[in-house]
Amino acid sequence: VYDVTIVGLDERGANLGAVVVFHDISELKRLERVRRDFVANVSHELRTPLTTIKGYAETLIDNKLAGGGTAESFLGIILRNADRMVKMVEDLLSLSRLEAREESFTPRDVDARGALAEALRICVPLAERVGVSLEPRLPEAGLRVWADFDLLMQVFRNLLENAVRYSPSGEAVIVDGATDAEGFVHFMVSDRGPGIPAEDRDRIFERFYRVEKHRMRSGSGSTGLGLAICRHIVERHGGRIWVEPRTDEKGGSIFHFTLATPPEVLDGDSSQETGN
Ligand code: ADP
Repeated sequence: VYDVTIVGLDERGANLGAVVVFHDISELKRLERVRRDFVANVSHELRTPLTTIKGYAETLIDNKLAGGGTAESFLGIILRNADRMVKMVEDLLSLSRLEAREESFTPRDVDARGALAEALRICVPLAERVGVSLEPRLPEAGLRVWADFDLLMQVFRNLLENAVRYSPSGEAVIVDGATDAEGFVHFMVSDRGPGIPAEDRDRIFERFYRVEKHRMRSGSGSTGLGLAICRHIVERHGGRIWVEPRTDEKGGSIFHFTLATPPEVLDGDSSQETGN
């Protein structure tokens, strides 16, 4: 898309012939569309829980409830929807700080097991509730990466929460990690969920994108922002993130991401385990 300016006269009005100036405005138009879609998405995502809260609160005020704990169950619904809005706003803030590069970003030599342990601690209650076990399998000797601890923790947390939410009860979510031949550390979070159709595999890392058939399953914890946040964090570290299907008969997904090894580990410290 071009914006065209035709300049034909000099400052005294003499005819100079025509000079045609092309400004490429397709990028501007694209950004404008992204902004409009974003506002529409946010409004929609916030309106749904808000409408629910309003409806249940009105019924409580009108006091038309039969006894038997109905008020408590309505208050429970109100609370869950308010929680969903809080999560949504927190994720939006975190994404916009990452996009504006305002998020404090202090990569250091960290042991990935520490960040994973912290993320596991947060995910245990959810995993217990849905009956999914969590199996960290990072090498015992540690796995050093050049990363911001809090942001790395957030990547593990988002991937683990998804893996747990989409796995059937009784299954396990496994976290592996190993140093690859190029000096990157390669992490894998494997689940037994429904898998992700090939045509959606790139798009799920876009904000608000959801696989259509998962819509009903994603429940109140879903914002459609978790993977967009993961991608921002990983790419900010110079790494890559992607998803592949599990090819054995039980199926599921494997989310992969890579992070750089700390400089001194590359400079010849060969004591690191390369894992399983
Ligand atoms: P959400 O909050 O909806 O989970 P995400 O950005 O974390 O948002 O994920 C985007 C979409 O990708 C989800 O709505 C779901 O359709 C799909 N998805 C994410 N993780 C998994 C998984 N482990 N198994 C199957 N589908 C997944």
